[in-house]
This record gives sequence, C-alpha cells and structure tokens, in this order.
Amino acid sequence: MLKFALAGNPNAGKTTLFNALTGSTAHVGNWPGVTVDKREGTYKKGSEPIEIVDLPGIYSLSPYTPEEVISRNFLLSDEINGIINIVDVTNLERNLYLTTQLMELGVPMVIALNMTDVLDKQGDRIDVRALEKRIGFPVVEISALKGVNVDVLMARAVEVTKEKRVGETVLKDSLLGSAIANAEIALKLKGVYAPLFHAIKLVEKDEIEVKSHPEEAKAVEAFIKENAGGEIDTEAEIADARYKYITARFSTTLTRARKLDYNELSKSNKADKVLTHKWFGIPIFLVILFAVFHLTFSENLLYLGSIIPSFGEWCAEGSEIKSIFFADGLNSPGVILFNALDLLTSKIGEWIGLGLESLGAHEAVVGLVCDGVWGGLAAVLSFLPQILVLFLFFSILEDTGYMARVAFMLDRIFRRFGVSGRAFMPMIMGFGCSVPAMINTRTMADQKEREATVRVIPFFSCGAKMPILLAIAGGIVAYFGIGNADIITYSMYLLGIVVAMLSLLVMRNTTMRGEASPFIMELPLYHMPGFKNLMLHLWDKAKHFIQKAFTIILVSCVIIWFLSNFGWAWNYVGEDMDQSILASIGKLIQPLFTPLGFGSQLSASGWVFAVAAITGLIAKEDVIATFGTLAACLIAGFEMQDEGVSAVFILIRETGVTIPALIAFIAFNMLTIPCFAAVATAKGEIGKEKFKWTLLFWIVTSYLVSCMVYTIGEFWWTSFIWAAAAAIVTVGIVLYNKKADKKAKLAKEAHKN
Ligand code: GDP
Ligand code: MG
Repeated sequence: MLKFALAGNPNAGKTTLFNALTGSTAHVGNWPGVTVDKREGTYKKGSEPIEIVDLPGIYSLSPYTPEEVISRNFLLSDEINGIINIVDVTNLERNLYLTTQLMELGVPMVIALNMTDVLDKQGDRIDVRALEKRIGFPVVEISALKGVNVDVLMARAVEVTKEKRVGETVLKDSLLGSAIANAEIALKLKGVYAPLFHAIKLVEKDEIEVKSHPEEAKAVEAFIKENAGGEIDTEAEIADARYKYITARFSTTLTRARKLDYNELSKSNKADKVLTHKWFGIPIFLVILFAVFHLTFSENLLYLGSIIPSFGEWCAEGSEIKSIFFADGLNSPGVILFNALDLLTSKIGEWIGLGLESLGAHEAVVGLVCDGVWGGLAAVLSFLPQILVLFLFFSILEDTGYMARVAFMLDRIFRRFGVSGRAFMPMIMGFGCSVPAMINTRTMADQKEREATVRVIPFFSCGAKMPILLAIAGGIVAYFGIGNADIITYSMYLLGIVVAMLSLLVMRNTTMRGEASPFIMELPLYHMPGFKNLMLHLWDKAKHFIQKAFTIILVSCVIIWFLSNFGWAWNYVGEDMDQSILASIGKLIQPLFTPLGFGSQLSASGWVFAVAAITGLIAKEDVIATFGTLAACLIAGFEMQDEGVSAVFILIRETGVTIPALIAFIAFNMLTIPCFAAVATAKGEIGKEKFKWTLLFWIVTSYLVSCMVYTIGEFWWTSFIWAAAAAIVTVGIVLYNKKADKKAKLAKEAHKN
C-alpha cells in the first residue's frame, strides 16, 4: 500500500485535511519515545487505498524541536512513498519556506495549496500553473475545510510516485551554492541517501548532520572559509537566501486584490521610519508605555494640577462626586472609573452593615459579612476598572500591529540576553496572565531558551498582581504624602522587566547555556483595531476576574476572617486579633521576612504582611483581599473608602512599616512563586525534574531582590555591599563561561579527531 506523509506549518490545515481524507479510519498513537501525537489513517476513495500519516506542524527541518526531529527522521526513512505538503496560501512566504526544504529531500511530493476559499473571498488570485512550473512539483488548489478538490489532490499524489525524483534546491545560485554542490558530490560518492538534503544541512552546520558526517563537515568548513572569505553564519545566510528566492520567484504568482495596499504600505512604511527607528524606536516604546500607565493610574492628568496651581487647589476640595474627577489635578480616565466604582462599593458595604444591624444580627455575623467578605472582595474588585483600562490600551497596541514591531526591535537587544525577539510576545502576554503566556512559549524553537523564558514570565506583573501595586502605591501616596501612583507602578513594572532580563542573562550563561535561535517574522501592516474584537478581549478579562473574585478569593476571605477572629480553642476573639490563630501562624513565619523589611521589626499586627505574602500563593489578588479583611478587623468600622488603599493606609499606621519595606513587599510578591494556576502550567511546560529548580529560582530571586530594595532604601550605604556582591558574581559567571567554552571546544576537537 502507498504511504504518504502530510507535512506543513502549524495551522496550515493538516488535521482538517487528514480528517477529510481518512474519516473514521484514523487512529492516534505516539511517536516512539516522545509525547507527540502520531495520527495515521487510510484514504479509501481512490483507485487504491493509501495510508496517510499526519506529521506534527513544523516551520523547518532544523534539529531544534522534537517535532522537527521527528518529521525529519520520518521523511528521510524509507517508510514513505511520497509527501503531501500542505501550504496555507494566506501565509504563502512562511509556508513555502518549509516547502523549499522538502524539495531537497528528493522524495516525490505534491503541494496542496490550502485555504483557497479564503483567497477567493478576499478576491486575491494565484497563478497556480506558474507556481507549479517554478517550484517543479505539482500544485493542487484545495480547501480542506470545504473538502474541495481533495480527490484530485490524491490522484496527483498517486501519479507522482510513479516517477523517480532527485532533490532540487533554490540555493544553487546563492553565496553557498558551490559549497553545497561540492558537499553533495562527496556524500553521493559515499552512497548517502538524500545527498542534497544532507549536504545543505552540513553547510548549515546542523548539529545532527555534523555528528553523523564529521569528516565532510570539516572539509565543508574549510571550503567555505577559503571561498567565501572568512567566517559566515551559514545558517542565517541560507535562511535569508531561501526567503529572497521565495519572494522573488514564488510570491509574484500571487496577486492581491486590494490595490489600496500600495497606499497602506507606504503609510505603514512612513510610520515605521519613526516608530521602529534604530535609535528612537525603543525610547518611543518606553514613552508610549509610560503614557499608558499615566492615563490609567495618574491622579494628575498631564500634570495640569502643577501647571495651573489654582486649578490644583480648586480640585482639592469639594463634594464626593467632584472628588471622583479631581484630586491634585484632573484624574486620568482609569482613576475616574476606579473612583466611581469605589464610591459604589463603599456605599454597598455601608448598606449591608446597616441592614444587618437593623436586623439585630450578632456581632460576629456582621463582622464576617462586612469585614471578612465585603472588606476583602471590595478591596480587590475596586481595581477592576483600571485593569480593564490598562488592557484596553495593551489590546489596541497589539491589534494595530505595533507590538509585533516592538518584538522585532527588541530582537536585537534580547539576543544579548540570550533569547530571540520571539520571547517578547509571551512576555507581553504575561502582563495579562502568566498561564496563557507560558503556553505561548511553545512557539519558541529552542528548548532551553523556552524554559528560561517560562521561568521569567511571572516577573512580568500580571493583572492579578496589579491590586498589590495599586493599593500599596496608593497607600504610600496617601500616608506619606509623597510620590505619584503612576510613577511608582511604572517603576515596579520596569523593575520586574529588569529582573527578568538579568535572570535570563545569568541563566543563559550558566545553567541554560546556548545561543538565541533565529527569529523570522512577517510584519503585519498597521491597521485600525476592530471595536468588537477589543470589547471581546475586555469582556473575557472582566469575566475571568469577577469569577475568580467570587470563588477563590471569596473563600479565601472567609477563611482568613475565621482564622483572624478565632483562637486555637475556637473562641471568638473579635477585636483582640492578636490572640487569633492567624496571628500565631503569622508571628511564627514573620522572622523570615525581617531582612526584607516587613518582618519582626514591625510593631504589633506586623505579621499581617507575612500572612498576606503566603495567601498570595493561592491567588495574587488574595494579598490585597487579606489586607482588606484584616484592616477591617483591626479597625472595626473604619471609613471604607478606596478600600484597598485605605487598608494599606491603616496597616502603615498600625505597623509602622516604612516606604522601602513596602516597595520590597511589592517586589517580593511580584517576583516570588506565582499563583497555583501558573505554577501548574509552568510545571507542565518545563517538566517535573527541572521544575524543582524553577521553584527555587523564584524563591531565591524574589528574596534577594526584595532584600536589596529594602536594605538600599533604608540604609543607602548597603548599596556598596550589593555592588561588590554583584561584581563578584559577574566575574564568577565570566570565568565559568570561559571555562565552559574551552571545554566545549576541546570536546569538539576530540570529536573531530
Ligand atoms: P493544523 O495545525 O495544520 O493541523 O491545522 P488545522 O487542521 O487544525 O486547521 C487550522 C485552522 O484552519 C482550523 O480552524 C481549520 O478550521 C482552518 N482551516 C483548515 N483548512 C481550511 C480551509 O481550507 N479553509 C478555511 N477557511 N479554513 C481552514
Ligand atoms: Mg493539527
């Protein structure tokens, strides 16, 4: 029976086509030794039955991911009679990049040009005959989804197996063309199967290939050095040559209907001249980011309050309604929404309290409902508007196509830290939630690079951590009367980013050594974001947040309230919170946090911070929920306004915690072990064995950074000690690297001889 492999990029429609072809005959197994699905089935509608194997989605045949290695080995095995290469015509260049590699195998192949229904809908046209002629393999237009032309495809597939094929390459006229030709001859003489493919891999200095043909590898290297004049990054050179060929010869068969493209293109180009400028690009990004934070968190929009002094004064006094809009100056849209919701939640809290009292409820019940449940929930919920406003801005930046450009710009910088620009998207997603962000790292080719990225994703402060930032920043401004909430939050976000990048640098030079993988991306044109799409994003976010508030956080609040209102003998301690179960637990772990500024040095009730840091492991919102609940217990019936913020205000007053300690507290919570959900995801993505180290990494990093923040903030001279320690560590890493490089070189030489 004939056997075909179905190969293509992820999302090209392989599975859809596979299902259309094989129907009920399909069965799923595993590729030997790895947990990648192997799906096989039989196509029965043709003149003879054909077996079909659905390969994992891949972008290339490099040895970087298990999927790539599996596909490559399978395609080179003598198990198959031919390849069906499925190409998503709406992403023609990226898909044909793989095609140019499959061509080199010398295996019969037919190209299934998929998603042609989309092409028709857009009014675009592709000249299939021209494409077929230029590629040199049969091309069949299909729609896997609608089942159009799949039988024609299979008939052509049977035909191609009847003729013998040799490998063809688009790299003949490239800089490395002669090196490839020479290597091919050498391998052919040796009787190697698919000599062209192996020759190109040798020139690329592909790991697997160099290992299996060490002598030829040496000869090829010498040849290139001599003929191309010195060292070249052959892998990048070849990738570049492929793309150039594709755009010059293949893409031209596609005619896009939208003639206004040209206009759009030039507009995009003009915008890019500025926005992705070599020097100004990144500073512009930082300014945009700050503007976003300013619009979301500032109580002094555009600093109008300081520019027009009387305006500030006039703003300061006034009614409740007026204070929604004005503080030191005009409030930012984020703060206005925050204040409005806050007024509402505090009113609701009041009404609940009054209602219960008028019903003659027991003191403990009033306490549970007003302090335990509402105190904690309101503290968290009140931040929802600002979270949504921030995400609205992020979604706009992403949907316009700007974020893709930032990834592209950052690639240059990221490379120095050992990761490619591809890591940027997961990182940005991390500002929303670590869970999808960690899953998104699957697009990264290099396993070590990917694990390192998963580890630092929690440092990109997620939406759930935002209440911590906001409440404490607000508390600092309110109690000490210094600083701006927007500047404090912005700096904390930057701190997270800096720590992430430094950790990457350290990891990629010590435990996870390696070079950043190449990063290839198509830049979308700039376009207006769709309103509906934006609203869907926001609705998703809001729904998730509210669901979490009324489930995990609600339960946590109740538990915290019980533990803080009852003693070990289940006696109600009420006002005397110091006698509670929670207090005794808190006091027990409190000394751990003394070097961070929020441990034993605090006066009575200072254990609250230790407890909050622990409850944060369940869900990060729990930190502020804990503050809310405990502050409400501490000062029975305190004026509930800006719940989260006044909870912090009260805790500062009661515990005597200092500004550096508060900042250290934010840093600790931002950098330490993330919430349950993120921990489980990271474990899944990294694997059990390495995950232990990841946990340790999070604990150590958060502890060190937070200790540094506190000690430098409190005792400036300790900065010299930290600087000295950093210098020693740097020297250590550099020395270690030298040694490791040497070792690698020796190993390589030993291998060669
Ligand atoms: P795979 O990752 O290559 O297995 O791709 P899938 O088969 O999962 O398809 C990815 C997406 O493309 C799915 O949402 C499919 O419904 C869609 N898709 C696949 N083929 C076609 C097609 O011919 N036309 C259209 N419009 N969508 C398609
Ligand atoms: Mg699939």
